[in-house]
Amino acid sequence: RAKATKRGGHVVFEGAIRRELESRLTLEAELVLAAERNEFELFYQPQVRLADGGLIGAEALIRWRHPVRGLVSPAEFMPVVNTSSISDRVAGWVLVTACRQARTWERAGHNVRIGVNLSPSQLQSGDLATSVAEVLDITGLTPSLLELEVTEDILLLDEQRVLDTVLRIQELGVRVVFDDFGTGYASLSYLKKFPLDGLKIDRSFVLELLADSGDAAIVGSTISLSKQLGLSVIAEGIENRATADLLASMGCEEGQGYFFGRPMPAQAFEEQFLTVRESTARVLAGGEAA
Ligand code: C2E
Ligand code: MG
Ligand code: MG
Ligand code: MG
Repeated sequence: RAKATKRGGHVVFEGAIRRELESRLTLEAELVLAAERNEFELFYQPQVRLADGGLIGAEALIRWRHPVRGLVSPAEFMPVVNTSSISDRVAGWVLVTACRQARTWERAGHNVRIGVNLSPSQLQSGDLATSVAEVLDITGLTPSLLELEVTEDILLLDEQRVLDTVLRIQELGVRVVFDDFGTGYASLSYLKKFPLDGLKIDRSFVLELLADSGDAAIVGSTISLSKQLGLSVIAEGIENRATADLLASMGCEEGQGYFFGRPMPAQAFEEQFLTVRESTARVLAGGEAA
C-alpha cells in the first residue's frame, strides 16, 4: 500500500480499490441471495461455570453454509452484512432464531442463557427495545435468559440514544453485556456511563494468559474491577484446563472457549450438553425410582 503513494503507483492503487469494490459488490449480492435461500445458520458455543464446569449458557454465532465454499465464518461476511440492505433482516433472524432455540431448551427444562451478538447499527435504530420485546413475546422466552452482547463500537454512536435503548432493554429483564472487553477505543469511564450487566474479557488477553504476565495483569484487574462494579464477568478463548484453572483462581466465575466446546449446531449442542442433564433431571425428579 505504501507503494501506491509513489509516482505512478496510483494506477496500482486504483486497481486494488476497484477490485476490492467489485469483490464487495459480488459478496453483497451473494449475501442477499443467501438470505433468500436460508443459507444462514446459528451455531451454539457453551458457556460454563469455572468452579464446576456446569453449563450456564450458549453464545449464538452465525454461519453461512455456502453451497460451494462450505461453512463461511462471520468475520468474512458480517462486516458486509452489517452495512448492506439485508442488515436488519439478518439481525432480526438471528435474534428470533436464537430466542426460539433457547425457549425450546427452556421448555425441556434447561435454563440455558442465550447470548446474541448485536451489530452497532442495531443499537442506533431507536426501536431495538421494541423488537426485543416482540421477540420475547412471540417466542415466550423468559427475558432473563436473553443476554445481548454489544461491543465498544457503540461508543461511536449517539450516546443518549444508545443509553436510552439499553435502559429500555434492561427494563424488559434482558441482560446487556460488553463483548470483546478491552480491545476497543473506550476509557474505563464508559463503564459508569453505560450501566451494563457484565463484560466478556476478550480472547486476545486469555489465549496467552499462562505465559504473558501483561495479559495476566490486565485480566486480573478486569476481574476485580468488574466485581467492584457489580458486573458479571466471563472469559472468552479458554483453550486448555490450565487457563481455566488459573482464571478460576483469579476469581473469574464463568468461561467460554474451545476447551469446553466449539461453536456447534443446535443438535450437537443438545447431545453434548443437554442430554445427560436431562436424564439426570428425570432421575432426580423421581421417574421410575423408589
Ligand atoms: P465474538 O462475539 O467475540 O465471538 C467469539 C468468537 O470467538 C467466535 O468466533 C468463536 O468461535 C471464537 N472462539 C470461541 N472460543 C474460542 C477459543 O477458545 N479460541 C479461539 N481462538 N477462538 C474462540 P466466530 O464464531 O468466528 O465469530 C466471530 C465474530 O463474528 C463474533 O465475535 C462476533 O463479533 C461476530 N458474530 C458472530 N455471529 C454474529 C451474529 O449473529 N451477529 C453479529 N452482529 N455478529 C456476529
Ligand atoms: Mg460475542
Ligand atoms: Mg467476544
Ligand atoms: Mg471476540
